Amino acid sequence: MQYLPLFVKLTDKPVLIIGGGSVALRKAGTLLGAGARLTVVAKQFTNDFVQWQQQGKATLIHGSFDPVQLDGMLLVIAATDDDQLNDTVYQAATARNMLVNTVDDQPKCSFIFPSIIDRSPILIAISSFGTAPVLARRLREKLEALLPQHLGPLAQLVGRFRSKVKAKISGFAARRQFWEQVFDSDVVRDVQANQLQQAEQRLEQLLAQPQQQAGEVYVVGAGPGDPELLTLKALQLMQQADVVVYDYLVSDEIMQLVRRDAERICVGKRAGDHSVPQQDTNQLLIALALAGKKVCRLKGGDPFIFGRGGEEIQALLPHNIAFQVVPGVTAAAGCAAYAGIPLTHRDYAQSVQFVTGHCRPDGTEPDWHSMSKSNQTLVIYMGLMKAAHIQQQLTIAGRSGKTPVAIIENGTRREQRIVTGQLDNLAALVQQHQVSSPALLVIGEVVSLQQDLHWFGQKPQSAVFGQALTRME
Ligand code: SAH
Repeated sequence: MQYLPLFVKLTDKPVLIIGGGSVALRKAGTLLGAGARLTVVAKQFTNDFVQWQQQGKATLIHGSFDPVQLDGMLLVIAATDDDQLNDTVYQAATARNMLVNTVDDQPKCSFIFPSIIDRSPILIAISSFGTAPVLARRLREKLEALLPQHLGPLAQLVGRFRSKVKAKISGFAARRQFWEQVFDSDVVRDVQANQLQQAEQRLEQLLAQPQQQAGEVYVVGAGPGDPELLTLKALQLMQQADVVVYDYLVSDEIMQLVRRDAERICVGKRAGDHSVPQQDTNQLLIALALAGKKVCRLKGGDPFIFGRGGEEIQALLPHNIAFQVVPGVTAAAGCAAYAGIPLTHRDYAQSVQFVTGHCRPDGTEPDWHSMSKSNQTLVIYMGLMKAAHIQQQLTIAGRSGKTPVAIIENGTRREQRIVTGQLDNLAALVQQHQVSSPALLVIGEVVSLQQDLHWFGQKPQSAVFGQALTRME
């Protein structure tokens, strides 16, 4: 973080501006809006400055900059069209440890003016710190459109009730629950409809009889890694939860979207390395929900595809704990899309099988025969460590050694890496390219399309395809 965003109370605070032209005027307007006491130094002033002086809003000094003028100032703005003068002001202010903004010269800014979205008392400030102003502006426009206008009145209403709520409900967590309840209630709809009196009465009623929050578990699929593949519902529940219980497949970028003050518990799990036994995870979910928490059980991909989401919900049933399930983009769908492999392109495949490379605890082998049919795509989860076995068994069962294969490591993430080849060198590819988890194996004729349809991230690291592609008629 290059700059720390702070909101500064400027009411009646002295601020010095050097410059009396249009650039200075813009900054002066913003500062006056925040109630600052302005002193402006320039040889010439635009009319607005003169009017502000007449209205007692600004003191104008006709003349040159003198470091003495910095005495007692809180902030300094160098806003002249003379780079040398701006530099002199910057140096003088910096020497006195003052915060200075040099307009349009970011390296000479110890503070900057962000773009603002104003839903007072809600304020949002955005900046790219001079690196991408157009991007920052577009982001601001997006947020403007997204944030309802009634946010301001809603925050004002809440502000009026804050001390009352504090007096009535003790404990931070209980108060937070109360406010969550308010924001889920018709109070918001009333404010939206400009029925402020009714909103206030409803809030009074809620405060008179606050309801005990019942615990709940949201079993949420977080997708394969790219945060933009989260569903809106997943994001919403991640923001509502008191506790997030997540596993290693959930990317850091996704975890950053969890509500800031939510508790985070990692029950990290890698194939062959169950750091928290499933039984303990189940018990944890039960205990948290029975304690009245809203628990977001955040899982990589889809919770019901090799995700044990079903087992976790089954464990909740005897305790009558409410739950919701939010599907996620499963690794097969996400990785195939980002690798450019249409899993059931009708010229090459009539079906797709999602298979786990992990053996059942009793050692039962999967049905290799059904998997070895051509014109079908196999997507193998957790198959990395079993690559040699998979290669061998599929070949024995009759799948051509020339069948194209892709190994997709970290699919949909910025680090995505794809290795392609054919079935008879699958295990060698895993070794040679030192593929690491999470990785998905895709086996089938459709993989050959990857050469043309690749669009995301690095090109594949090897692209040897056999001749025996069986294109269906
Ligand atoms: N429920 C998850 C799968 C969990 S099993 C889902 O629906 O996607 C874990 C396996 O998923 C990993 O071993 C790997 O094979 C696969 N996987 C998950 N995310 C992946 C990713 N971003 N890239 C490649 N493979 C991934």
